[in-house]
Amino acid sequence: MEKQEVMAMLKLCGCGRKISIALSRCDDCQSKHEDKKKDRHKAYDKVKRDKDTQAFYNSKSWKIVRRDVESRDNHLCQLCLSKKKIKTMNLVHHIKELRDYPKLGLMRSNLISLCAVCHQYVHREYENGNRKVMETELQRIVERKET
Ligand SMILES: [Zn+2]
Ligand SMILES: [Zn+2]
Ligand SMILES: [Zn+2]
Repeated sequence: MEKQEVMAMLKLCGCGRKISIALSRCDDCQSKHEDKKKDRHKAYDKVKRDKDTQAFYNSKSWKIVRRDVESRDNHLCQLCLSKKKIKTMNLVHHIKELRDYPKLGLMRSNLISLCAVCHQYVHREYENGNRKVMETELQRIVERKET
């Protein structure tokens, strides 16, 4: 049978529309099908990313580097300190975020001690379109300590 003849033969799609027997579904159902596949893929990616992140934070190398950065920063929030405020640090933050730059995960120059308030503020700036400015400000603070 010629390809054209096959294409011309009809069957019903799951939704009831008439389609060529050469197709598995109508255009509408096909695009819904692909969206679902994409969603499943996205969900899978997220689970994998979360697992990688957890493995990173549990790793021995991270614990060593983190402790190292904490003492480099004298256990003080470096953003507060840059504004002449003395506040104990709460965590070590990745200036270039771990999920975007996993290779910088253990680089001291990419790490900075922050208090909880500053950390929240920094991430809000990242999300509000001021990522570049914020990153540069933090990088400047760290550069002074690493040279
Ligand atoms: Zn259909
Ligand atoms: Zn602070
Ligand atoms: Zn952070």
